[in-house]
Order: sequence, then C-alpha cells, then structure tokens
Amino acid sequence: MRIQGLAGTAVSVALVLSGAVRAEAEIRTDRLSGRQLKTWKAIVAVVEAAGPDGQILHPTLHRLYRELDSSAHAVRIVIPDTKGSSAIAGRFRIESLGSDGRHEASITLNLRTIDRVLTGSPDAQLVTFERLGRAERYAQVLGHEMAHAAWTLGDAENTRLVVDVQRRSLELARRAQTEGVAGEGFSEAVRENERLVRSLEGPALAAEAAITEELRASR
Ligand SMILES: [Zn+2]
Repeated sequence: MRIQGLAGTAVSVALVLSGAVRAEAEIRTDRLSGRQLKTWKAIVAVVEAAGPDGQILHPTLHRLYRELDSSAHAVRIVIPDTKGSSAIAGRFRIESLGSDGRHEASITLNLRTIDRVLTGSPDAQLVTFERLGRAERYAQVLGHEMAHAAWTLGDAENTRLVVDVQRRSLELARRAQTEGVAGEGFSEAVRENERLVRSLEGPALAAEAAITEELRASR
C-alpha cells in the first residue's frame, strides 16, 4: 500500500500550529499532543492510501475528508487523553454557530474505546471491527463522524436540526439533575429526543458501511 499526501498534511498542520492562513476553515488538529498527532497522521495515511496505480483505496473516506477539509466550516479533532474509556467510540458536535454561516464543530475519537472490541448496541455501530488494523478502526469511526459532519454542515436546515437535538439533550440532562427523571413529561421528552437522535444516524451508518467495505477490500 503506497501512501499519498503525507507532505500536504504536514503543511496543513504546520499552518494551523502557527495560527496562519486558512485558520478559519478546515479540519483542525491544533489541540492534539505530539503523540496524538502521530496517531492522527496514521489515520490520515489510511484516508489517503493509494494503490499501485495511484487510485484512492478508500474513496468514501477520502471524499468525506476532502469535503470537510475544504468546507467553509472548521472541524476540530479531539482525542481525549483519559485513563478510563468512554462508552462512545466517536462523537460529532456543533461547538458554535458563526453569524457569517461558518460554523465550528468537533469530532471526538475515543481511541481506548475503539481499541476494545465494541459490544455496544447494534444500531450504534453497524459493523464490528473484525479483521481491521488499529489505524483502520480509527479511520472507520472517523468516517462515521465525518459523515455526520458533512450532512450537518452541508445544509442550513440540517444544521438547525442538529443544534436543536443538542440543545434538547443538554436540557434533558439538566432536568434529570435538577427535577429528577420522574418529572411530568420527562420520559416522553426523552423518547422524542431518542427518536430524533436515531433519525440522524442514517447518513452516518450508510457511509460507515461503504467505508468498511473499502477497508476490507484494500487488505
Ligand atoms: Zn453516529
């Protein structure tokens, strides 16, 4: 497997670190430590892997990455450096809405969780990680979250919906803490929120299925 585009990535990373050009739009890695940056580069190598004739091996993954990296929005990569592991392998979040329509979002990758064999609910993860290498597993989860990002940021109506779901989720968490879960209408509100959250999974699961096939085929 020949790796393409590593030099280009290094340039982009250097620009972000120096706070120079393009700081307002792209995939940002400025919060990653040296070690995390190394892992990130291994993931990007999977994204940009090419075959002997120069053909991109994982086109769905590659397209999503290019789409986000060249969008008007900024997507920051977050890799928590915690000892314990979260139940969530990856997460996409809108962090702030720009009045000019350029938004800031984040993709969190919980590497420790991805390292373990996922045994979570079947609709949270479409395909298990069988027979994939470590960086490929990370790339698979990244692909799922990038699909959320592309769908959410690609259309103003979608952005509004996701912001609304995030706001509802926060509000429900706050209510659970202050009023408890027995409050009037609480369980209905939780069910409605869960329905909305599930409805957002469609595009991400479809992209993940395609990416998994591409990763398998290239092994
Ligand atoms: Zn998802």
